[in-house]
Amino acid sequence: MNAEATPKEIDAETEARHREFELRYGVCPICKRCSGPISVNKYDWLYCAKHRVKWCISWNLWDFSEGRPRKCRKNQRFLSRFTTIEPLHLEEPAAAKGAERDEN
Ligand SMILES: [Zn+2]
Repeated sequence: MNAEATPKEIDAETEARHREFELRYGVCPICKRCSGPISVNKYDWLYCAKHRVKWCISWNLWDFSEGRPRKCRKNQRFLSRFTTIEPLHLEEPAAAKGAERDEN
């Protein structure tokens, strides 16, 4: 069994955050999803573990690894297996709420 299983609320929160990141910083061009962000030496990356790609989204914005050099090295090792790519940028859902209705 997976000892690191996360509670459902955290999953939902992570999902929402991912959606925001997907819109703002792009997604894997293949599966149109992303994981992360994770920080390495003050650079923040999104990645797709399935397709082994990564893209840098910011510098020194969050720095989740601050004061955690071991975590940082772990992230660096993890990301070193990924290929840096240009992410696919999704279009903003300009008016997701009422656009369809307004058009008709
Ligand atoms: Zn992918």
